[in-house]
Amino acid sequence: MSSNSYSFFNDVNSYVDKAAKFTKHPPGLIEQIKQCNCVLHVSFPLRVKKGKFEVIEAYRVHHSHHKAPVKGGIRYSMMVNEDEVKALAALMSYKCALVNVPFGGAKGGVKIDPSKYTVEQLERITRRFTSELIKRNSIGPAVDVPAPDYGTGPREMAWIADTYMAFNAGQINALGCVTGKPLSQHGIRGRTEATGRGVYFGIRETVDGYEDMQKLGLYPGLEDKRVIIQGFGNVGYYAALNLQQNGATIIGIAEYDGVIFNPDGIDVQAVHQHRIDTGSILQCEGCKTIKNGHDLLEYECDILVPAALENQITRTNAPKIKAKIIAEAANGPITAEAENILLKRGVFIIPDLYLNAGGVTVSYFEWLKNISRVSFGKINKRYNELNNEMMVSAIEDASDTNLTYKQRTQLIKGAGEIELVDSGLEGVMVNAFREISEIKKERNVGDLRTAAFVNSLEKIAVSYLELGVFP
Ligand code: GLU
Repeated sequence: MSSNSYSFFNDVNSYVDKAAKFTKHPPGLIEQIKQCNCVLHVSFPLRVKKGKFEVIEAYRVHHSHHKAPVKGGIRYSMMVNEDEVKALAALMSYKCALVNVPFGGAKGGVKIDPSKYTVEQLERITRRFTSELIKRNSIGPAVDVPAPDYGTGPREMAWIADTYMAFNAGQINALGCVTGKPLSQHGIRGRTEATGRGVYFGIRETVDGYEDMQKLGLYPGLEDKRVIIQGFGNVGYYAALNLQQNGATIIGIAEYDGVIFNPDGIDVQAVHQHRIDTGSILQCEGCKTIKNGHDLLEYECDILVPAALENQITRTNAPKIKAKIIAEAANGPITAEAENILLKRGVFIIPDLYLNAGGVTVSYFEWLKNISRVSFGKINKRYNELNNEMMVSAIEDASDTNLTYKQRTQLIKGAGEIELVDSGLEGVMVNAFREISEIKKERNVGDLRTAAFVNSLEKIAVSYLELGVFP
């Protein structure tokens, strides 16, 4: 297939077909699961100057209504088109099923380069797109709950929430119409870093697997792993930071304008600060800068983390990749054709639908917080601390020992929102990894992506079968 006729949605469906062979479902059910249930394409005008207008194109796709609400981010990028949004919406269904988050899959996209617009214009675009969704009953806490994605963040989510609330005064759960909001707008602690942190948990679980590491000729654990990251946005930055804080060495980071490299290790926090100061990761002290060096993906390393966009590892560069593990922090960075090449070459792929599911997992926590209108830990934190205090004192009395101040404080501390969100996220990522590893082993599936799709298909199929839609 030439790169012109590349279809991301076809690639996702080819993974479903491959996985379906390991399941036993009635004919037609897999076909029903694969289709997008609803595709919305809107265009609206934006006044850019006095008398000058632009037409903005935007999409929202509901892939699967087997659960409500549907959930998925909204991206702002010039690459947005119907095929891309359909593929990303489908991935959301499989992702949510995999991590047992009770949503159907959706995705949205606005075809703009956000760097070309002023903040005021971006706000108008966001509010107008939200009102297009409201008009069609395509947003709401029980219907469809957007979130940040490539090119969007808490600021855009705040505009979406505010627009929705203006049209739905008095709706008590209105704040649950979108997640990834700023904290002041009833967002949740830990959401911004959630996807990157989930990526770290997923990689940690993988590299802790003795058998898989042995096959790759690697030692278990993160300590001796050399990592290359493509994309230093929200996901790439937090993934790199967490990996580095837990022992890995980040040797290269690629961005759209070039690459930085240091075989002895890059200080991720310093690069982040350098970008805040200069607007680019390039020329960061202590690193070699290679302008437009787009072949970083092909450098020698243990773990390659594509954390930017889809269609980055294709049949052209797949034979040249030297990484032993590819960790898909982005959605769809490896094409299906490239995957075949990589699997044959023995590369271990940690698939997107598992690895970047941390974002939607913490979005789920935020949605729960919004519809229950209480933050996690608020009611029970102090009660737990008093209980812990009594227990620690009783143990001290009974054993006639005195703990140090530090030990006492650590044992007594109750969990607040960030502790609950983070441990909840870790639990979800660890559990999902166990589920897919088990499927891979027991059904002799071969690769982790297929195992992940088998897991999701089984869960979505149950929803349809128990509805009686299929006999
Ligand atoms: N855009 C993120 C993703 O691709 C998060 C979606 C969400 O939180 O709903 O998973």
